[in-house]
Amino acid sequence: MPQPPRILVVGTSNTDLVTRIPRMPRMGETLIGHRFHMGCGGKGANQAVMAARLGAQVTMVTKLGRDTFGQMTIDNYRKHGVDTRYVFWDDEASSGVATIFVDDEGHNLIAIVPGASYRLTPAEVRQAEPAIAGSDVVVGGFEVPVEVTAEALRLARKHGRTTILNPAPALPMPDELFELSDVLSPNEGEAETLSGVAIHDPESARDAACRLLERGARAVVITMGERGALLCEAGGAAQFFPAFQVKAVDTTGAGDAFIGALAARIGMGEPLARAVVFANAAAALSVTRMGTQVSFPALQEVEDLLP
Ligand code: ATP
Repeated sequence: MPQPPRILVVGTSNTDLVTRIPRMPRMGETLIGHRFHMGCGGKGANQAVMAARLGAQVTMVTKLGRDTFGQMTIDNYRKHGVDTRYVFWDDEASSGVATIFVDDEGHNLIAIVPGASYRLTPAEVRQAEPAIAGSDVVVGGFEVPVEVTAEALRLARKHGRTTILNPAPALPMPDELFELSDVLSPNEGEAETLSGVAIHDPESARDAACRLLERGARAVVITMGERGALLCEAGGAAQFFPAFQVKAVDTTGAGDAFIGALAARIGMGEPLARAVVFANAAAALSVTRMGTQVSFPALQEVEDLLP
């Protein structure tokens, strides 16, 4: 058996509180809803769980509140075999929660309280340096403070580890973060914000990717929803990989499934182009089922979908 890829994710953990209601209430109105369910979420958490489901050995660096949701979250990590040695606890803030209302028409209304998730510090990331040094791939994003992600990527670079930056939500990014990105993987909207290029097709996505490479990223992978993904490597031609044709039921978390799968395959030493095709397949399967982490596929399902 080859060694599983070792992935370290620095990011958020949220609990999604989803209430289905017939219609959106008016200000001050009380409505009776149809159903309620809770799910584990947060971009970092989703990416970590996706990589773990695909066989990676995953370490999560995140912060939780000392409450029921924090306990649920850590239980969920353990259930998926994610290493929780660098899950920190906050004595003051609540765990991150996303309160979500969905009406009969499918419209939603969401309020996120990042709570402890956003209180992860660069000093805590430095405590995780031994795990960063022992990883194949380090994944970061912007649901945690930029200086936290920057510190993780700096440490990864110091130890010669591969970095993936998922710049979500989009923020103005200092050059250092581009330069610290072995793979910069935004979605279309984030790529537009970062590059200033409007994206409507693979051609314009390639133009946007070129701008991001000019700023210092070593490779750029732009996810383009139902269209697929575009890969552009410094000094190489752009390659567009169409999405797998599936019946989409719920696209929530598709981007996180893509990043988690991409990390797992890069961690195995797979060439970028093949890792992108694999990530396209994993993300396509995730949109065929309702929910976020519960919709993420197992390794065999992804392999069965690949040509
Ligand atoms: P989200 O915020 O919903 O998690 P995102 O905006 O970060 O998503 P997208 O670019 O929408 O990310 O999707 C990520 C990947 O998921 C795509 O590159 C593609 O591989 C896959 N995907 C998304 N929608 C579909 C679809 N309808 N059919 C097949 N694959 C899809």
